[in-house]
Order: sequence, then C-alpha cells, then structure tokens
Amino acid sequence: MTYPDTYYSRTAIDVSQRPSLTETLSADVCIIGGGLAGLSCAQELINRGKSVVVLESRRVAWGASGRNGGFVTAGFAGGEELAEQRLGMTGAKQLFDLSREGVDIVRNNIQTLNLKETSPSPGKISVIRYHDPDSLQRYCDKMARDYGHELTYLSKADLPDYMNTDRYHQGYLDNQGFHFHPLNYCLGLARVIEQRGGKIFEDCEVLSMDQDSPVKSVTTARGKVNAQDIVLCGGGYSGKVFDKVRRSLLPITTYVVVTEKIGPLLQECIKTGAAILDDRMASDYYRIVDEDRLLWGGRVTTRTSEPKDLAALLRQDMLDVYPALAGVKIETAWSGLMAYARHKMPYIGEIKPGVWTCTAFGGHGMNTAPIGGRLIAEAITGESSRYKLFKAFDLQWNGGPAGPLVAQSVYWGLKLTDWWNERKSVTR
Ligand SMILES: Cc1cc2nc3c(=O)[nH]c(=O)nc-3n(C[C@H](O)[C@H](O)[C@H](O)COP(=O)(O)OP(=O)(O)OC[C@H]3O[C@@H](n4cnc5c(N)ncnc54)[C@H](O)[C@@H]3O)c2cc1C
Repeated sequence: MTYPDTYYSRTAIDVSQRPSLTETLSADVCIIGGGLAGLSCAQELINRGKSVVVLESRRVAWGASGRNGGFVTAGFAGGEELAEQRLGMTGAKQLFDLSREGVDIVRNNIQTLNLKETSPSPGKISVIRYHDPDSLQRYCDKMARDYGHELTYLSKADLPDYMNTDRYHQGYLDNQGFHFHPLNYCLGLARVIEQRGGKIFEDCEVLSMDQDSPVKSVTTARGKVNAQDIVLCGGGYSGKVFDKVRRSLLPITTYVVVTEKIGPLLQECIKTGAAILDDRMASDYYRIVDEDRLLWGGRVTTRTSEPKDLAALLRQDMLDVYPALAGVKIETAWSGLMAYARHKMPYIGEIKPGVWTCTAFGGHGMNTAPIGGRLIAEAITGESSRYKLFKAFDLQWNGGPAGPLVAQSVYWGLKLTDWWNERKSVTR
C-alpha cells in the first residue's frame, strides 16, 4: 500500500514499509489505527512503561493525520459554547486547558525528539468575510478573560499588514498556535515509538476483536494480538469492525491542494508566515509551505468519493480571495476523511472494561488527538481520570443511513447563513 500522492508524501522523511503481523503477540495494550491518535497514545503508554502494539490497515498516518492542513491550535471541533452548556464554565475551562496541553505536547515533541523535518512555523490568523468587529472583539476579550488565552484583535485597517485581499473584514491572531508537516511528525513519532520498544505493523487491517474477555484479542488476516487493553483509533476510516463506535461517527470529507512554486508574487498576496482560516462552516484554510508554495484547503461534504475537478474547485476558491494568483498552477490535490461525532466533540473514554476509544477529533485533531492519547494512557496506567471530563460527550448514534443526509442539509443551512452574512456586508 502506498501513500496518496500529496505534497506531504512527496516531501516525507522516510516512507519505507513496515512489516505486517504474521504471528501471535502479547502486549499490555493493542492500539488499532496508526494515525496521530494511535501513535500519540502509543508514545504516552511507552513513556509510562507499557508494552504496546499498533496495528495499521494501510500505512502510518495514511489517513487524515498525514494529509491535513497542518494547523496546530488550541480548542476542539465542538467549540467552547457547547462545552460551557454541558460542563459549565469551570469544566469548559478545564477542557480548553487540555486542548492547549495538546498543542504543547506536539511542540515539545518536535523540540525534544528533534523532529525538524516537521518545519514548524508560528501563528494562526482567523478572519471573517463579513463586517462584525464588535462580536470578534468580544470573542477575543472572552477568550482572554474566561480561558486565559490571549488573541490579538485585527481591525480592517490591520489586515493589509498580513494579507492583500479585500475579502476579509476583521480577524484575530493566535500567536500560541503553529503549523507544520503532519506526516513527518507522525513518521518521526513512529520511529521514536519503535526505538523505545513499541511495535507497529502496517498493511494490517484488524478484522475482528474479542472485546469481552479479561484478556482481549485482536485478529488480522495473518496474526493476532492478545492484550489487557485495546484502544480504538480508526478515525474517519473506521470500518465495520469498530461496530458501535463506527455507528457513532460521521465521516466528513475535506480537500487540499498545493500550488507550484510561486516566487515573490505569493508574498505580495500573503505577507504573513502564519496560517490563515476563515470562520465559515466550510472554511478556506491555507498557509505557505516550502517558502513559496500555497497549501490551500477547503470545502466539506458527506460524499466520500473525490470529485474529478477537485483541483479546479479549490483553485476557484483560492482565486476568489487572491485573484492575483490567476496564473498559478496546482501541483497536487487530495481529499481526506475526518471523523465527527454528532456533538462534534471527541470520543475519549472507556466503552467496556479495557476497551477505550480515542477518536472523532473532527477537523481539529492535531492538538486534540495528542491530548486524547495522553488521557487514555493516564487512565490505563491509573495515573489520572482526567478523561472523565469527556463523559459529557458520550457515543451518540450517527443516524444510520439518514445521518450523512442530515449532516449535509445542516451544512447547506450553515452555508446559506455564511452566504447571507457576506451579502449583508457587501450591501451595507
Ligand atoms: C484534509 C484535512 C485537513 C485537516 N486539517 C486539519 C488541521 O489543519 N488541523 C487540525 O487540527 N486538524 C485537521 N484535520 C483533522 C485531523 O487531521 C484529524 O482530526 C486527525 O488526523 C485524526 O487522527 P486519527 O488518528 O483519529 O485518524 P486518522 O489519521 O484518520 O487515522 C486513523 C487510522 O486508522 C486506520 N484504521 C482504520 N480502520 C482500521 C482497522 N480495521 N485496522 C487497522 N487500522 C485501521 C486507518 O487506516 C488510519 O490510518 C484535517 C483533516 C483532513 C482530512
């Protein structure tokens, strides 16, 4: 199995194939899924003295973790409001702090494990495409006051210092976030896990599991792992073997393209090294990579097949914001699946004795999967029960065959709101 052709796989540090499992092994913990969630959990368990086997259907970080936008920022896909409703302000603050800890885990690993091929770059700017300075200023004030998270408000007059487009009205800068090469991060983490005695098998789909015996067993085409605990980390690629967890996930597709090398014209359009995204449901999210290429992501859909004109679709979105890039060619285009729960918060917890979920990170997994992995490791080793904060976000049925249809119509409704907000700003 090869990696999809992406900018990341073209610039990956080492994509040599790992073996598949062809024997019966025993370990303290068996992790199913070798994305960022599975790898983070494995690293945290190994740091706590546990023996670990990771089973990955395809390749390490072949799924969302190796093909995403690369934004690493505080927060969860579900947002702060939902957390406040379900947990109150104190619980919501604890949750947000965990999301910041997730950012720190990645930052610290890059430094201490010397993962320099991840090319980290600081800053994220959030922008709005309609005029609403008061709400945005209030949001920045609230984040500082209630969450201790400082954001720099950017007025319409400030934005030209960062980008050359009239699409945006206001924004804010988050200096604590950063962006990086997610595939190289995962590959680096996998290397460290193996150096410390963890075992990772690729091309090794889990076909069945015994989740009910005191010692669990996990079976692949040619091998088996017996383990005290198992951790389910299949993300948007979770198949039928994940059973109830699979039926509690909505896989949502989003797209990314990377341009050819653009030269000085790119800095004329985008003057900041920070990553940029707008606040729409299907936001544009983009950043400069490789000095003068533009990585541009956007659109979401419940359709899992890739459109033929994917590159052209995203190019059109890019030109809508930066018409000056009209002559620029797209070099690579790809799609990926995110796993969403209906409440948009992750499933981090124990679903049966010794069976753990660490999944459903939605479009915000680069910080939340690492903290998810840490919380599960702390729970398995008895170090803490911090994962219990997520009890407020239990498994929720995805709605069966109607689930994607409902999600798609909610999305269209939100798109309509986005369109209306922009239109009001144009006509005001
Ligand atoms: C295009 C795109 C852009 C995104 N941008 C960002 C961003 O900028 N910032 C951010 O924070 N988040 C972003 N996300 C979301 C983020 O990538 C995910 O939340 C995160 O990677 C989820 O990690 P994971 O390990 O749960 O899932 P995945 O990375 O999808 O890994 C799951 C793995 O499980 C394996 N698997 C599934 N079933 C089995 C089985 N039966 N046996 C063995 N293995 C199995 C799969 O092969 C897969 O490799 C984006 C996602 C996409 C798709």
